[in-house]
Amino acid sequence: KQLRVALMGLGGYANIVARGMKECKTAKLVGIVTGTPSKIPEWKQKYGIEDKNIYNYENLNEIKNNPDIDLVYVITPNSLHHKHVLQVAAAGKHVISEKPVADNAKQAQEMIAACEKAGVKFYIGYRLHFEPHTREVVRMREAGEFGKIMHVNNYMGFKSGDPNQWRLKKALAGGGAMMDVGVYALNGARYCTGEEPIWVTAQESKTDPVKFKDVDETITFQLGFPSGIIANCGCTYNFNHSERLHVMGDKGWAELNPAFGYGPIRGITHKGPIEQPDVNHQAYQMDGIADAILNGKPDPNVTGAEGLKDMVVVDAVYESIKKNGAKIFINK
Ligand code: NAD
Repeated sequence: KQLRVALMGLGGYANIVARGMKECKTAKLVGIVTGTPSKIPEWKQKYGIEDKNIYNYENLNEIKNNPDIDLVYVITPNSLHHKHVLQVAAAGKHVISEKPVADNAKQAQEMIAACEKAGVKFYIGYRLHFEPHTREVVRMREAGEFGKIMHVNNYMGFKSGDPNQWRLKKALAGGGAMMDVGVYALNGARYCTGEEPIWVTAQESKTDPVKFKDVDETITFQLGFPSGIIANCGCTYNFNHSERLHVMGDKGWAELNPAFGYGPIRGITHKGPIEQPDVNHQAYQMDGIADAILNGKPDPNVTGAEGLKDMVVVDAVYESIKKNGAKIFINK
């Protein structure tokens, strides 16, 4: 049996997911939700989508009457995830939301509650949890190979292009670099330590206040953990090729660089290079989620609850910046 998936929002990333899904074994792309009819012929031709599995944003609720779709993958601009996940849950289908899960923690809670009420599974598109180099770092940390974790230093960013894109408009993006790529550094700090932060401080730097008038350009943030360690993280929309994860323990360390892109991911530890296969992230993610839903494999660490944990930190990052870098206590 395969998990039959419809993609919602046929933009840049949906195209990458669709291409990756050609390699899937347990998940299968069967449907689309699009507001742009001119895209339909190409998707039908490339992926064999049948007319009965094609929806738009107006008739989306009718998907509930379609027994041939099991899950809808929401790949629309950030600030629409909340509304779209609620619509999919109401239609009784499992749902994946792209990151960031929502604009804030309150919305993420509402999404989790709606999916629970509807009896559907809710996941976030955190593809790196399925990526072998990343998994090896987590395995080594859990096995104690780094000893006691002492420090984490993560960075993710790229130079955003077109000044008119939705990513630079708060109403559709929810925020800037922090929302889009800061979540990689932050989520990475959580899987590098295995702890939940208890305080957050953050600072914003803006070198181009015209382009970034509406959203954050570059943010540095620190996470304090119960064991006493601090992770130093950052993200940007204004310089390229900056994606690095670095975890340091009292016995050893690991560094992934590049750490967060579509691959190949490269890593080294105190023992030498990380030798793991380069895989298609999107195919691995979709098969991993399909295995959890269909075959009772344990839920991967990418549930809505994980997305909520990140949004609690994101809220605190923005609050700290608003309060000139004040320490914000969370997860009390
Ligand atoms: P994009 O602009 O290329 O695509 C967005 C799509 O949403 C477009 O097809 C657009 O037509 C559609 N859309 C529907 N309603 C819309 C509206 N009201 N306004 C504007 N567009 C609307 O963006 P993208 O790069 O594909 O990003 C989409 C989502 O995927 C974002 O949440 C982003 O964070 C996420 N993403 C995740 C990864 C990853 O590696 N996990 C990578 C890239 C993007």
